[in-house]
Amino acid sequence: MTATVPNSVRRPLRCAVIGAGMAGILATIKLGEAGFTDVTVFEKGDRVGGTWRDNTYPGIACDVPSHLYSYSFAPNPEWSHTFSPGPEISAYFEGVARDHGVMDRVRFNDAIVRCEWIDGRWHLETERGFTDTFDVVIAATGVLHHPVVPDLPGLDTFGGRAFHSARWDHSVTVDDARVGVVGTGSTAVQITAALARRASHYSLFQRTAQWVLPQENPEYSAEEREKFRGDRALLMQIHDNLAEAFGRFASAVIDADSAGIALIQQMCLENLETVRDPELRERLRPTYRAGCKRLVVSPDFYDAMQQPNVELVTAAIDCVDPEGVRTVDGVLHDLDVLVLATGFRADAFVRPTGVRGRGGVELADVWAERPNAYLSVAIPGFPNFFMINGPNGPVGNFSLIEVAETQFAYIMQLIEQLATGEHAEISPTRAAMDAHESARVAAARASIWVTGCRSWYLDDRGIPATWPWTFDRFREVMAAPDPVAFEYA
Ligand code: NAP
Repeated sequence: MTATVPNSVRRPLRCAVIGAGMAGILATIKLGEAGFTDVTVFEKGDRVGGTWRDNTYPGIACDVPSHLYSYSFAPNPEWSHTFSPGPEISAYFEGVARDHGVMDRVRFNDAIVRCEWIDGRWHLETERGFTDTFDVVIAATGVLHHPVVPDLPGLDTFGGRAFHSARWDHSVTVDDARVGVVGTGSTAVQITAALARRASHYSLFQRTAQWVLPQENPEYSAEEREKFRGDRALLMQIHDNLAEAFGRFASAVIDADSAGIALIQQMCLENLETVRDPELRERLRPTYRAGCKRLVVSPDFYDAMQQPNVELVTAAIDCVDPEGVRTVDGVLHDLDVLVLATGFRADAFVRPTGVRGRGGVELADVWAERPNAYLSVAIPGFPNFFMINGPNGPVGNFSLIEVAETQFAYIMQLIEQLATGEHAEISPTRAAMDAHESARVAAARASIWVTGCRSWYLDDRGIPATWPWTFDRFREVMAAPDPVAFEYA
């Protein structure tokens, strides 16, 4: 582990952070704590919070329990539920950013369009024409950020209101309206549970059925929250217990033959058996194994699907008409509102920012086949450019906050090496990245994710773009950079 260099002998480093979501807030706070105060955060939106700012659909919550989905340095005694709703999570990130002085460092409403390595420094240019140079760039640009809008014929002719789930139009009335939702991922399931009873008629357009893990979401009582306020150790204990449980889940999904994955399958099956109508139950039954797609968690999805005004549409979508959605069986499903809960491009890391590394090499060319990075955090030929939650980063269904904290503690050690003045440039070797990638691809073949389903986890080769080992191994590998894996200048 690299020791923190005393400020008196440090080379002052100018740091740019791209993105003020969960990871960008974290990086800015940690840089400040380590004494790096020359930090500029570039945020294209007008608020911090990233995915929790963008996704405001009804029913939004996080399927990682709130006391685990919190920064380790900012436990929150005020969480209202085991899985707290999205607006609370968004307010939490804003509060942490405000309390830790992040806001003053953010340039809002200005996206980075170019990021170029020239003569040993990163030259950044924003959409509004602002330019500046930095020693270090942290790309905290998120994983699931760019919505996939399906190319449904006639979508632009729809007479009602249509939008992607990540661009919810709150001016649209959903109460007593005829609402259609395309998709059955985590997003669509949460929307369904929230809207089924509010819409006059609700149609769920299912291309592929999902396994659903039943998970109650109890509220924390006023007494419990009062207790949490006075007992930080108790909060940390809850966090650690949850981390252990999610660690077990992460170990289960990387081994398709594990007892853990069999148990998950059993729990999902029992949940499906609660659907009373046998015909509906069969239409909701997936034809692949539980955990193959990212597992959906919901206590009340099946209940919502059994409401009298709710219809499961399994015929494929043919086109969109001015009146609604027409399926290939010729049926027109009349709608006032059409929600596309159709997911995100999971391979669009850092894009569309143009990044040019050593020797004028474009990142877009390096990633022409697919994005890749050494341990998800750094790329050969792109010195002093570090990513949080970069390519192949997710670990099981683990909290992305804990993944980000672990990755950034690793990155900080590289930044400390730059601060000694001993090195001006650090980037991983191609050999280290290639060796890591071959081991990763080989290990991923044992996981549940490759047992026969389509999901955003899979890259164009059908290889899961994830960490295919245990969370303990992730912690071990990320504890300290291996000097042999990096080249220095
Ligand atoms: P998703 O899991 O990628 O699901 C997209 C859905 O849209 C799938 O059911 C897909 O069908 C369907 N679809 C896509 N294109 C279609 C088309 N042309 N016609 C018909 N159906 C189409 O997206 P998501 O639900 O937004 O979730 C993405 C990820 O975000 C989650 O896996 C999770 O990691 C995260 N998330 C987390 C939470 C949380 O609680 N923490 C909540 C929401 C989202 P197929 O299955 O057939 O491809």
